Amino acid sequence: MKKAKYIIKKMNVKLMESYRKVCDIHVLSRLVLRLGLVMMTIAIGVVLFYKPARVAVFKPSEIVSVIEVKSGDTLSKILGSKGFSVREIDTLSKTLKKDADFVTLRPGRDKFEFIQKDENQPISKIVIKNGPWHRVELNCGETGTWECQKIDIPRDTRLTYKEGEILDGDSFYLAGMRAGIPAGILADVYDLLAFEMDFERDVRAGQKFYVLYEENFASEKRVDTGHVLAVSFEALRGNVQMYRYVKQDGGVGYYDEHGNGAIKSLKRTPINNAKITSSFSGRRKHPVLGFTRAHKGVDFRAPTGTPIPAAGAGRVVARSFNRGHGNFVKIRHNGTFETLYAHMSRFAKGVNVGTVVRQGQIIGYSGSTGLSTGPHLHYEIIKNGQHVNPMTVKLPAINNLDAANKKIFMEYKQQLDTTINLLKDNPTQIMRL
Ligand SMILES: [Zn+2]
Repeated sequence: MKKAKYIIKKMNVKLMESYRKVCDIHVLSRLVLRLGLVMMTIAIGVVLFYKPARVAVFKPSEIVSVIEVKSGDTLSKILGSKGFSVREIDTLSKTLKKDADFVTLRPGRDKFEFIQKDENQPISKIVIKNGPWHRVELNCGETGTWECQKIDIPRDTRLTYKEGEILDGDSFYLAGMRAGIPAGILADVYDLLAFEMDFERDVRAGQKFYVLYEENFASEKRVDTGHVLAVSFEALRGNVQMYRYVKQDGGVGYYDEHGNGAIKSLKRTPINNAKITSSFSGRRKHPVLGFTRAHKGVDFRAPTGTPIPAAGAGRVVARSFNRGHGNFVKIRHNGTFETLYAHMSRFAKGVNVGTVVRQGQIIGYSGSTGLSTGPHLHYEIIKNGQHVNPMTVKLPAINNLDAANKKIFMEYKQQLDTTINLLKDNPTQIMRL
């Protein structure tokens, strides 16, 4: 009896266990059903909502036609050739002017792209590539109105290092070209070194130089060059080094390795790359007058019409003619320095007594007026009323750094020097600041 009871009890347990299992199966099947429903909903959703995306992926390829701007082309001529009506052209040019500041076409440089969805559709997008760093996009909306957008192209600025050496009979210009320095960068280097160097007399075979400058890339393609970041030249009077530095207030300047302003108040050679034909001297035989007298300035060879830039910022105090100087301009730079430019063929427009000029502003054009044997620039620097030798006079720096900026500059200079050394060892590696 006891045994039978035990058996029944055991059977009960078994029954309950199997019942629980059945229940579990029910829960499971319900879960499966729900899951199935959810998945079906997702699937329907995918079919319903992702269809447009699939269409976009498999859309027929659009038709792009390109027009390169040639001389004589106008906006209306180009748009007209693509079938736009006079009214549409008028609207488009107004939109372009208003939203993209787009006015002039540059022949040989600008490009138009006209885009159609397919050959049966009208043009719905126009892309104007009118500069290396931006493009203009015109999009036709569903209502037929054109919207204009100016899009900036991101600039990838990389650093390039070039070094060279002056060979026998070389000029700095030739050596720079041989080193592969682009013409624009070489002109900037000239401008900078002209504050410290006399290219005629400071250049000797064996001198080494280098320049670190920016090159701007867009989509891995080199587009143009940027700033000169560092330059070094083994001049006779010692190594000339200059670094470009942007101050805390945004002002930009070039400084030597000690953080002193490298841009002087005056340039020793106002015209870049001009050969000195006669130096400053206390006594010399005058080529026209024939007797010995002092040459109070420096003569630079300059074909008639060569633009003459102001050696420094200042105010024009004389714009006149005399027998010796011919047409000349005199500029007062500060309480100490004045400069004079003689034998001009003509004065620059807008330069009169009282005109305030900036450093590098063209004040006139070279010639051979006055007592002169041929076209040249006679250049004088007058310090406290006395004529001084432009090539040797100590010139004050403008734009010196304050203590806070100097500290930051010295750290930045270290960074530039490190970059220079890395590029020197491996010129092809890509470096950015
Ligand atoms: Zn002279």
